[in-house]
Amino acid sequence: MIEFRDNDDGYLWWLERHPDGYVVNAHRRPIASYLVLPRAECPSITRLATNAKTWTHGQFIKVCSDKISDLDAWVCQVPGELSSCGMCRP
Ligand SMILES: [Zn+2]
Repeated sequence: MIEFRDNDDGYLWWLERHPDGYVVNAHRRPIASYLVLPRAECPSITRLATNAKTWTHGQFIKVCSDKISDLDAWVCQVPGELSSCGMCRP
């Protein structure tokens, strides 16, 4: 499991090498009501939203892993629960 904050280059590098992986999109200071889990190939986290200039330098961070179980463990510490991305439904 790897956490990307202020590191778009590292994040994009990871996505490219882990197409079957998973990502948690969370606030820089993670809050329980926003812990979204998309697949690594989901447009929601591979394309920048309108008006967004960065994936990891702004309001959000990305926590990445090949295994959902790792990310489950991470959100337990927030504490919170993953909510599956509605676009790719992991
Ligand atoms: Zn998705």
